[in-house]
Parts: sequence; structure tokens; C-alpha cells
Amino acid sequence: MICKSITNKIREELGKMKVFFMFMGSIKSLLNQQKYRAEIKLNPQHNRIYAPGHAYWSDALNDGIDRGNKPYYCPVGWTRCSFYVTDRFYEKFKGWCICYHGTKFAYGLSILLSGLKPAENDEHGAGIYVSPSINYACHPRYAEVKLIDASYGSKFFKSGKYVQFVLECRVHPSNIRKVAPETLDAQNTIIDFNINNNIIEWIINNQNKKIVDFNDPNSSIVCTGLMMRVTNDHPGLLTESQWWYESHLCNNEKCCVLGIALDALQRQRFNGYKCNVIYD
Ligand SMILES: [Zn+2]
Repeated sequence: MICKSITNKIREELGKMKVFFMFMGSIKSLLNQQKYRAEIKLNPQHNRIYAPGHAYWSDALNDGIDRGNKPYYCPVGWTRCSFYVTDRFYEKFKGWCICYHGTKFAYGLSILLSGLKPAENDEHGAGIYVSPSINYACHPRYAEVKLIDASYGSKFFKSGKYVQFVLECRVHPSNIRKVAPETLDAQNTIIDFNINNNIIEWIINNQNKKIVDFNDPNSSIVCTGLMMRVTNDHPGLLTESQWWYESHLCNNEKCCVLGIALDALQRQRFNGYKCNVIYD
């Protein structure tokens, strides 16, 4: 019985991953990237739902695990699909900090399969851009908001209407080349009540590599999971997204990928539409 339920659970997780890959684009790009990463191994016993009543803590986590010199706050509202990185993970990654990298679907698959590439918009110089704040990393300029297609969405996401994905990564503090302010014109608002706007971007040393491979044990950054947030309406209606409207937000799909016209979203917001996170 337990065996059966675990199998079903794993199947369900794989199903969500499959939907993720369906969103990601063509098999061709998948095959092109295969040479960099043979497969993504899942680690379902470390999957988590971060919310009151599930995995939840307030303030910086104090559980005795060394995550470098950076505090780790609960990514409330997000579910983690955990990747297998290595045996004796806590030994190897003792002192490594948790951070997040928002993904757009067109690039996400190649990011997952090949490693993070150096950022092209390098306001703070060359490197890989990550954030200790998932609420910053999931801004639609970084993490696409995707409308779930009812035909396959309902099977895996139940009542979910929109989904966002953010990569959970680990980086050793010595590889954080620079800690820098936000670059989304958010100087008049608070992005994350736990993390000051001035220290919300980390630029990671890419070791002068064009592609940083997560499978390389000497890589400066590894990807440890896929963070997912499913909502019953547009995530721009969540309380934690209200800073979007006091920072950069646009209708140019090469920049902010909202999954809805910006004026339609603003109308919904004006009319007091509410949105909830779905956990299942
Ligand atoms: Zn934009």
C-alpha cells in the first residue's frame, strides 16, 4: 500500500515535470541540450510545500544546517520539486547559500539541461544573476507567468489557472562576486520584507565559462530544485506581488511575460479580484 502510494506520488511529480517540459518547447532543443546533461534526476523525498501547515518557519531558519553566511527565509507559497545532485549532499554543500533564478519557458529547459549561462543584460557586470529572494526572482521579467492550458493542466494542477517556475540553486559565498541592488526600478517599494532592495541581486562568478554545468562538481553554482507556484487566478493579484505595480512592469513580451494583457490585469486588480495559491 505504501509502495503504491509512493509510486503514485512519484508518477504525479513526473507528470508535473512533464507538463513543465511541455511548456518548455520543442524536443529538438531538448536533444540539442542533451549532450550537456543526460537526465534530470528527481529526489522526491525532499519535495516540499512551503506554507503554514506544511514546511513553514518565520524569520531566518535556524536548524543547525550551515547555509553559508546568508539567511534562509521560508519561500511561502511555493512547492519544491527536488533534484538529486549528489550523495551526502549536506556534506558536500555545507556552507553553500540558497538562492533563486527566475526562468522564462523559452530559456528554461536549456538552463536546466546545460547549466546557467552568463547573463546578457549585465547591469552589474558579467556573471550569473540570482537572488536570495524568491519574490524578486519571480517577477514576470525573470519568471514567466504561464496560463495553464485546461486540456492537460487540470490533470496535474487541478484548480490551478496560472503557474510560475523558479530554479532553486546553491552557491558558495566565495563565488558571489557582487551583492547588488535591484534593477527593476523598485526604489519606492518593498520587494521582500525579509531582504533589503539593496542586497537583492547576487552576481555569481561564472569562472569565465560560457556554460556553467550543474553536473560539474567544481561548478560555482548548482541547481537543486524546481520551485513552482500554482494559483487559481493571476499571480499579479497576490498580496506579495503588489510591488510589481510600483516598479518596472510592461506589456512587451520580450521583457515581462505576464500571460495576460497588462491592462486586463490592472482592471482585475482595480476591481478587487483576489488570487489564492493552490497546494495539492
Ligand atoms: Zn518589462
